[in-house]
Amino acid sequence: MPAVPDVILNNGVKIPQLGFGTFQIEPARTRETTLAALEAGYRHIDTAEMYGNEKEVGQAVRDSGLDRADVFVTSKLNNYAHAYDDALQAFDGTMEALDLEYLDLFLIHWPLPGKGDFTEPWKAMEEIYRSGRAKAVGVSNFQPPHVRRLLESGVVVPAVNQIEVHPYLTQDAVRSFGAEHGIATEAWSPIARGKVLGDPVIARIAERVGKSTAQVTLRWHLQRGDIVFPKSVTRKRIVENFDLFDFELTEADIGEISALNRDERTGPDPDRFNG
Ligand code: NDP
Repeated sequence: MPAVPDVILNNGVKIPQLGFGTFQIEPARTRETTLAALEAGYRHIDTAEMYGNEKEVGQAVRDSGLDRADVFVTSKLNNYAHAYDDALQAFDGTMEALDLEYLDLFLIHWPLPGKGDFTEPWKAMEEIYRSGRAKAVGVSNFQPPHVRRLLESGVVVPAVNQIEVHPYLTQDAVRSFGAEHGIATEAWSPIARGKVLGDPVIARIAERVGKSTAQVTLRWHLQRGDIVFPKSVTRKRIVENFDLFDFELTEADIGEISALNRDERTGPDPDRFNG
């Protein structure tokens, strides 16, 4: 099995750079699909209270027979729970659903900038981090001004910012802002839910290196240094998306794929989305 590189977060915690996403996997299919990913070699699973499948993700991790320390699990604070006490309670709910002793990474799912103050749930995240029940805490969908507010008001620097990134939305400004402040970028919807897979530029590179367009796109993320966790319920694709370590893209390939950027989102705009 190929070794997936680790990214070392700003508090020393190691996260496998390639993981498995579980958004839109129905609860009834989540245990079986997550087990298939763990069998294929993935050691990092991304879930959220909002996905409604934390219980089944936890079941798969426990049933896999792997040591807890060998699987990295991320979950996220739901949008209804931004008040301090609600955030602590939501975290308890997440841990109960997962039925794991600790969580590797807990994130504020969305900043909801028009709906109150995201520095309040961040205080709860800091409390959760200090308790040791989450080994690292971070944010998701935060724009640089949102992160700046946290840096000014908080004590703990977010370990990651999980944002939408793919060849049609390269997010250079948010990624470099994160890098300047020691915040790792996690790229959600790394293949834009399939939208980039027919792109002729990616297809030409894929043909040359003898890989699929999904593999080339995921390799582009890895070589840019981001953390990714493609989602699939299809066993063949689960295996395909993990098979990224026997080829390399050239600097010119990376440049050509990055030049496909057209600032096109598949999901909501974090400056406007308020839950
Ligand atoms: P992805 O970019 O991972 O795309 C998933 C889609 O692509 C599915 O429809 C899947 O189909 C298909 N697919 C996967 N692999 C292949 C392949 N090799 N060839 C062809 N089609 C393929 O989108 P997601 O939105 O799921 O993003 C990944 C993860 O990021 C999520 O699962 C979640 O964990 C996280 N996320 C976080 C968000 C946030 O706000 N923080 C928002 C959205 C996602 P099928 O399953 O049918 O095989």
